[in-house]
Amino acid sequence: MPEIKTLTVLGTGVLGSQIAYQAAFHGFAVTAYDLDDEALEKARARFAHLAGIYRAQKVAGVEEGQAEAALANLRLTADLGTAVANADLVIEAVPERIELKRDLYRKIADLAPAKTIFATNSSTLLPSDLKDFTGRPDHFLAIHYANNIWVQNIAEVMGTAETDPAVFDAVVDFARNSGLEPIEIKKEKAGYVLNSLLVPLLNAAAGLLLQGIASPETIDKTWRIATGAPSGPFQIYDVVGLGTAYNIAASSPDAGSQAFAKYLKDNYIDKGKLGISTGEGFYTY
Ligand code: NAD
Repeated sequence: MPEIKTLTVLGTGVLGSQIAYQAAFHGFAVTAYDLDDEALEKARARFAHLAGIYRAQKVAGVEEGQAEAALANLRLTADLGTAVANADLVIEAVPERIELKRDLYRKIADLAPAKTIFATNSSTLLPSDLKDFTGRPDHFLAIHYANNIWVQNIAEVMGTAETDPAVFDAVVDFARNSGLEPIEIKKEKAGYVLNSLLVPLLNAAAGLLLQGIASPETIDKTWRIATGAPSGPFQIYDVVGLGTAYNIAASSPDAGSQAFAKYLKDNYIDKGKLGISTGEGFYTY
């Protein structure tokens, strides 16, 4: 089984910065790549912010000085060749645009050594949509993290029919060694396991609200009490962010989704209420 010691993360936005920091926190040598110095400055600020969160929240396994030590394991570069030259694993977390991702894989296919495993963190694309651009379909798969990975600490690992099983196992091991619970997915599935469960729940809750069946509080209370879950669907909407919920609903041709998008826009988005991040959404924080 290939051994993973060095990680390179492409894209240092919301998820890329968390993936890089989490691995550095667990002792991996991490290189973070983004387009230019301006993006790298933002990445530095994100890493410092994450160090503060990990320290304050006493993330599992945190010892005195560990949050700062993680920063010393992180190297930043805007040079793609340098970024991937020594990587055992490259995790791609660039914007969710298929042509942008394909173009990046075409480039690193030539720049990275043959041993390097590539993994996409894409939420909506299948690894099959990208594998033919990697130059190494047997060394390519998806590893999908959830936002706020120090708390929602799962990593869904999903290969294509061409992924070498030893590569799959190595990435599962990497996930575990970087403090995450690996979720092994045996077949390609849009939405992985998490969103295959979560999206229908959230859609059903939106339907109940729009049809005037029950209030968000009542729907959430039902779900919490009857299943023992800590949060109901509208509490989850507030965590995900109503801007994201709006974008997803608005991009669906389905009439129910369009109605929910309009509801979110009129009652929340246009009033600057985006959920927990702005202090108000379905609930006030
Ligand atoms: P983001 O917009 O916050 O960050 C994207 C980063 O990529 C930016 O720093 C940008 O400068 C950089 N970038 C743009 N073009 C690039 C290029 N050609 N090469 C290298 N870097 C480039 O996006 P995000 O929310 O972190 O999402 C990234 C990926 O992670 C997407 O595929 C998304 O589906 C997935 N994801 C996101 C979430 C989430 O909650 N945000 C959760 C799970 C998975």
